[in-house]
Amino acid sequence: MNTAEIAEMQKTYLIPTYAPELALVKGSGTRVWDAEGNEYLDFLAGIAVLNVGHCHPAVVSAIQEQTATLMHVSNLYFNEKQPLLAKKLSSLAGGGKCFFCNSGAEANEGLIKLARLWGSAKGKYEVVTMKNSFHGRTLATLTATGQEKVQKGFYPLPEGFVYAEFNNLESVKNAVTEKTAAVLVEAVQGEGGILPANPDFLIGLRKLCDEQGALLLFDEVQSGIGRTGKWFGFQNYDVQPDAFSLAKALGNGFPIGAIVAAPKVADVFQPGNHATTFGGTPLACAAALAVLDTIEKENLLENARTLGALLLSKLQKIADQYDWIECARGTGLMVGLVLNDSALPLQKLLQKKGLLTLATAVRVLRMLPPLTITTADVEKAAALIAEACAELDTP
Ligand SMILES: *Cc1c(COP(=O)(O)O)cnc(C)c1O
Repeated sequence: MNTAEIAEMQKTYLIPTYAPELALVKGSGTRVWDAEGNEYLDFLAGIAVLNVGHCHPAVVSAIQEQTATLMHVSNLYFNEKQPLLAKKLSSLAGGGKCFFCNSGAEANEGLIKLARLWGSAKGKYEVVTMKNSFHGRTLATLTATGQEKVQKGFYPLPEGFVYAEFNNLESVKNAVTEKTAAVLVEAVQGEGGILPANPDFLIGLRKLCDEQGALLLFDEVQSGIGRTGKWFGFQNYDVQPDAFSLAKALGNGFPIGAIVAAPKVADVFQPGNHATTFGGTPLACAAALAVLDTIEKENLLENARTLGALLLSKLQKIADQYDWIECARGTGLMVGLVLNDSALPLQKLLQKKGLLTLATAVRVLRMLPPLTITTADVEKAAALIAEACAELDTP
C-alpha cells in the first residue's frame, strides 16, 4: 500500500487519536524509509524508544531466539529472564528491586500505588507532581500530569494530586504537607519541552522528602536507559530516588515498563497488591537484556554524552544566528531547539528534507536520536536544520 491508501484505511478503521502523515515501512540503525521509498535520518527514534537504533541485530536475534523458546508463562511461574533483568537494572540503579509492566503510564501508575500503599498506615496519600510534567494517559497518570490539556473532558479526576512549579523548591515546599506520600518528578521534562531540572532543585527535593517523610519518585520513562548520557537521568545529579519508572527505550520497541524501588520500599508490594498479566514475559525481558547489553558493549552512554554535546553546540550556533530562535538546551541526546513561536513549520520542513524531529510544547523542536548516531549523522542533521532555518528566515 502507498501512503495515501494507508491513510484512507486508517481514517475508516482507526479511532482518530493520532494524526500521522508519514507511513514508515522499514528501519535500520539511524535510518527509516517511507512507503514511497524515501529515506529519513531518524532524530526522534520512536519518541526516545529506539536507543540502540532500528532493528539492532543483537535485539532482533534475542527476540527471535526467545520467541522460538518461550514467549509467555504468566507470573504464576518463575521465568529466569525476569530476575536476570531485575538484577541488571538493580546494579545499574545502585540497588533495589523491580516490578515489570508494559508501558510508561503503567509504570507510573505502579509508582503512585506503591507510594499510596507505603503511606496508607501513616495517613499519607497525596502525590505532589510538577506543572508542565508528563506521566501518561491513564486516569491516575493524566491527573499526575501537570497539564490541563491532557485532563480536559475527563473530569472528575482521581483525588490526591497536588501541583507545584518545576525547578521551584519553594513551590514544592508549599505543596508538601503531612498528607504527602510522595513527590514525583522528571530529571528532564521531555514532553514539557526538554527542560532539565536544576541540580539545586533535585538536591533540595531529596532533603525535603527526607525531612517530611515522603518518598522521592522519578519518572525516567523518557530520560532513562542512557538517553541523557547516564543510565538514568537522576544520575546526572547527586540524588538517589526511592523509586523510579522506566519504559520507552527499555525494550527498544518491544513493549516493557518497570518500577525500580530502592531497598527502603522494595518490599511494600506483597502478593495480591499489584499485578499485570504481561509484566516481565520471557520475551520482553530477553529484549531488554539485549538492549542493556548493547548499550554497554557499544559504549553508548559515552556516545550520548559526546555527540549530545556536539549536537547542542551546533544547534546553539544556529540559534545565535536568528532572533526567532531563543536557544538550544538539553542533556545528552535529549535535545531541544527553542523557538519564539511554533516549531511545527520547522519540523515539517525538516521532514521534507529527510530529518525526523518533533515539535513539542508548541515551540520546542525536540530531538531524541538513537544513542548509536555517528558524528556524520550529527553533522548531517545540523546541516539540514541550518538549511531549513535559512529557508524559514527568508519566506
Ligand atoms: C512517554 C512518557 C510516559 C508515558 O509512557 P507510555 O508508554 O506512553 O504510557 C510517561 N512519562 C514520561 C516522562 C514519558 O515521556
